[in-house]
Amino acid sequence: ARQLVWFRSDLRIHDNSALAAAAAKGPVVAVFLRSIKQWQAHDHGANKLDFYARGVSALKEALEGLNIPLLHRDIGTFDNAPQALLEIAREQGISALHVNYEYPLDEQRRDQAVFDAFHQADIAANGYHDAVAFAPGTLLTGKGDYYGVFTPFAKAWHKNVQPEQLTLRDTPSPQSPLNIDSDPLPALPELDDTPVDGRQWPAGENAAADHLERFLRFRGRYYSDQRNFPAVRGTSGLSPYLALGMISYRQCLQAVMSENGGHLADGDAGLITWVNELIWREFYQHVAVGFPKVCRHQPFQDHTRALAWRDDDESFHAWCEGRTGYPLVDAAMRQLVTTGWMHNRLRMVTAMFLSKHLLIDWRRGEAFFMRHLIDGEFCANNGGWQWAASTGTDAAPYFRIFNPTTQSTRFDPAGDFIAHWLPELAELPAKARHAPPRDLLTQLDYPAPIVEHKAARQRALEAFKALK
Ligand code: FAD
Repeated sequence: ARQLVWFRSDLRIHDNSALAAAAAKGPVVAVFLRSIKQWQAHDHGANKLDFYARGVSALKEALEGLNIPLLHRDIGTFDNAPQALLEIAREQGISALHVNYEYPLDEQRRDQAVFDAFHQADIAANGYHDAVAFAPGTLLTGKGDYYGVFTPFAKAWHKNVQPEQLTLRDTPSPQSPLNIDSDPLPALPELDDTPVDGRQWPAGENAAADHLERFLRFRGRYYSDQRNFPAVRGTSGLSPYLALGMISYRQCLQAVMSENGGHLADGDAGLITWVNELIWREFYQHVAVGFPKVCRHQPFQDHTRALAWRDDDESFHAWCEGRTGYPLVDAAMRQLVTTGWMHNRLRMVTAMFLSKHLLIDWRRGEAFFMRHLIDGEFCANNGGWQWAASTGTDAAPYFRIFNPTTQSTRFDPAGDFIAHWLPELAELPAKARHAPPRDLLTQLDYPAPIVEHKAARQRALEAFKALK
């Protein structure tokens, strides 16, 4: 009996739980529902939409090799998903639907509506917890609550993880052709922005596997030493691929284990630090399910709801455009806007600068990141922003406020990253790039700092103290 696999952020044929389960039951028809209006409502911008489109195209090609046709529907918003899928199920005589779960609230609701509709139509619908080792709700504190702090979550993760949770799912063998044509893939409609050059981020499983291999071969062992230096290529660059499932966490962890004597928690320091980052990713997915308020634009820490964020469009735009007068912040924002990606250290620095130094609502920054990131992912982005704003899990204590100039001298000591993104400062000696001398600013065509660190820090401390 024919099986329908609905692909979403799992754009791969290898190690895909839903696809493997479907193929074990019968011939597979695949479908992709393009939901541009919905994604735009979730703030995804041109970079992400373009990468998504290129990923679907790579998936289609991979599926063709298995004789699996890929149907394509434009549904606009999620509420049209049940009807679109039921129509296909009826047309194609489908006996069961298979999906890998997505965890943000709107995606969960969409899936529930689809499952209800299939139930009513008497067609089976099966969901798989494919993107995480532990289904949310199955890794809980001693009291039976979802973890709201990372370290004990990671400990419990390592303690309880079983080899089956990391075993790669079977890649289906080619099936007999079904006599169903794949749909042609429509071009992206006109978007507000032009996406970054796709050659920077080739889409698909092969490109993802290449990234992983090169990272483990050349950089994995140095990861803990190099991961914080934005001028160095010290991290994997896998985030866009993980976000759309062009590679799975199991593939990443299996590759680590084969380099690290079968271990994830001990052995090479670089590799185990990297494993920890993948666990952060899973942690924030659990947080989205366990604390759905974070999906409703609410802070994780309830008492921070009343925080008096400042309304200051001028400063917000200076931050967006990289004109704050803090070179590391500005260089980072230009990296984001130009490439669709930003180094993790700088995501922390810029997010903290917006939410603390400028005391501007973190939700504005969260949305701006989403509009530009090629790896934009609700759970990780929301988690990162709430962490920086001290409203989230693990909340950075509100009084620990990065000094952007100190961050700059520590993590871009030679000023290379700054010089690359702010050519107007490249002529300065390395030391002066972190805080260009005031008397040179006009000559350099670079702004003076829009806030003074100490005063801004004090203002943020007072705003947080006022909550008590
Ligand atoms: P590596 O260092 O090689 O890490 C490997 C993988 O682990 C990453 O690809 C990512 O999937 C995961 N990961 C690493 N750090 C984190 C983290 N702190 N939280 C969750 N997952 C993590 N990551 C996204 O994937 N999408 C986002 O939209 C996103 N927004 C962020 C916003 C802020 C304010 C902050 C502070 C962090 C954000 N991150 C986000 C997490 C992190 O910055 C990126 O995952 C990382 O920079 C991607 O580069 P990489 O693939 O080279 O990472």
